[in-house]
Amino acid sequence: MIKHSHCKHLAIKAGCLLALILLQGCQTLQSVDRSIYKATEVISERDRVTGARSISIADRNKQIAQGNALAERYIAEAKKAGKRVNSDYSASAYQRILRIFDRLQQVSHLSEERWTPVLIEDNSWNAFTTGGTYFVIFSGLERELRDDNELAQVIAHEMAHTAANHPFEMNSFLQLNALAGSKSASRQSFQAAFTHENEREADRLGILYCALAGFDPFAASRIWQRMAQQSGNDAAFIHTHPMNSQRQQEAQQTAGKVVAYYSPGRINPNADSLKNNNSLFNQRQENVKAGEGGGVLSLLDTVLTTYEQKEQAKAEEARQLQRIQYMHYLHDSTSLLDSRAIARHQWQITLVYNGNHNIDKVVMKLLIQQKNSQAPFVAISPVNAIIYPGRRFRVIFDTGNINAYGLSKEQVNVQYDSAQAL
Ligand SMILES: [Zn+2]
Repeated sequence: MIKHSHCKHLAIKAGCLLALILLQGCQTLQSVDRSIYKATEVISERDRVTGARSISIADRNKQIAQGNALAERYIAEAKKAGKRVNSDYSASAYQRILRIFDRLQQVSHLSEERWTPVLIEDNSWNAFTTGGTYFVIFSGLERELRDDNELAQVIAHEMAHTAANHPFEMNSFLQLNALAGSKSASRQSFQAAFTHENEREADRLGILYCALAGFDPFAASRIWQRMAQQSGNDAAFIHTHPMNSQRQQEAQQTAGKVVAYYSPGRINPNADSLKNNNSLFNQRQENVKAGEGGGVLSLLDTVLTTYEQKEQAKAEEARQLQRIQYMHYLHDSTSLLDSRAIARHQWQITLVYNGNHNIDKVVMKLLIQQKNSQAPFVAISPVNAIIYPGRRFRVIFDTGNINAYGLSKEQVNVQYDSAQAL
């Protein structure tokens, strides 16, 4: 009896709800939808780039305040450590950065903001943003990239991180997932994979900005090609960035898609519309208003984007763990037969592979530990042959300025840098 009346009650309720949905302009639903929209606004942000809603707790003004406080602290520390900044370090280098930065910012999703590029005396190959309006670049990187087209790629990549809200998306995503007790979110490999996917997005968007601003979009792939030749791929490790050779391939593909927007040295006159609708992505519009279903849609969008981001990161994490396991397998299936200097600047190793399948695209890495320096010297050498089980193979490395005859076997370490199962 009780059951029956309860059912009836439910049926009446459902009927009412249906009627409410059918009755457009119903006050209650409108206000519910508006509340959902407001709540979603607090926890999410429309991606400036794709238009999708993703989880982000801080609004832009708070982001700038937080990001800039971090950057200012960093700059102050650098000055205190005696490092020269901006024109004090080099007026011409700083002018060059300002010039490239200005052109890129005009075509970016941040063209309304006032940004401050900062050049810091530091030999490392690095540049970063903290999500505010500072862009920090080290003199080592500026010096290395003598070609403006290449320097533009690095600047555009950093700009893209902030435009796509990566610094804050990452924090908010991890915080909320931790609150929800997500096991995957707390794994270091998952966090690395999440960052990895952001890096790929920043690469794509950065190359688009370059093309729109009149910088050669193929310059990025040239940088990564050089990096792959100089320092390899380190396939046996967790990566927060795509591996150099993957980056090179993807950068080349992206450049091919946006090269039509590029004319050397000139800002594309249609940059304003092209930055939102182009051959890489079309920005989604939120054309349903709050109170008319826009609230529900924005909530759904946030949930779906978050789910998608998590699934992408999980897939990338699985790819990386599988690759690392494979590299360990190769290491364990290979024995070193001989290792010695064969010329003043050449070191040769002889190996035998005893695994159970053929391998291809093998790249070997030699690490030389020098007595007077912390970081080892790295030499990369590709093996241009298929390696089958039982095969012996030799690899010769260029030791740069190091006299190979002066090295002992203990100073030299050889690893697989990358390889593919055939
Ligand atoms: Zn990056």
